[in-house]
Amino acid sequence: MQALLSVIRKIRAESATFGTSGNASARAGQAESFWITPSGVPWDAITATEMVELSVESGRQLTGHLAPSTEWRFHQGVYRAHDWAGGIVHLHSTYATVLSTINRAVQPVHYQMVRVADEVPVLPYATFGSAQLAKGIVEAISPQQRAVLLQNHGLVAVGETVEQAHQAALEVEWTAMIQYHASLLAAPRVLTGDELQAVREAFSRYGQPSQEH
Ligand SMILES: [Zn+2]
Repeated sequence: MQALLSVIRKIRAESATFGTSGNASARAGQAESFWITPSGVPWDAITATEMVELSVESGRQLTGHLAPSTEWRFHQGVYRAHDWAGGIVHLHSTYATVLSTINRAVQPVHYQMVRVADEVPVLPYATFGSAQLAKGIVEAISPQQRAVLLQNHGLVAVGETVEQAHQAALEVEWTAMIQYHASLLAAPRVLTGDELQAVREAFSRYGQPSQEH
């Protein structure tokens, strides 16, 4: 839960840049449950006592005196369907949300996003918190597709840890910003399949890329 609290503090600090609103979760140590942010509590006011623990299997609340985020269903669905998933970050960040409103996928206009996905598609609109929205997210996510946009809503990013999910969310939001600005000038060039494959090979050869790459 400490990792989740630390990620929440970072997202709060970034909110001036990206806009805020959303929720985050992390699988608990024993893997059969997960911690999620509570509903209706400002992110800067969340401490360990406000966090909510839910069962991965049933979604039943195990710990916490507050109600879970209203969007808990897709968190539960992803953990239940995907063993590798250890953390989820959901943001109503500015540029991902802008692209979602015009049904435009985040394209590989920069190689940095390759560890998240080649392209981040837009899932059809569904009411927040609904089983329909959860189903769409659960089916779209895979180890090769670690993020999706939700139409007229925002983005969801999944990682093996909540820190990784947070990093994926930032990479999608940043790439959406580059794509948005480039599109104001002309249609941006998109990396080809061969170029993306070469980036994947370079990353696996040199380990995790740093900011300087
Ligand atoms: Zn939302």
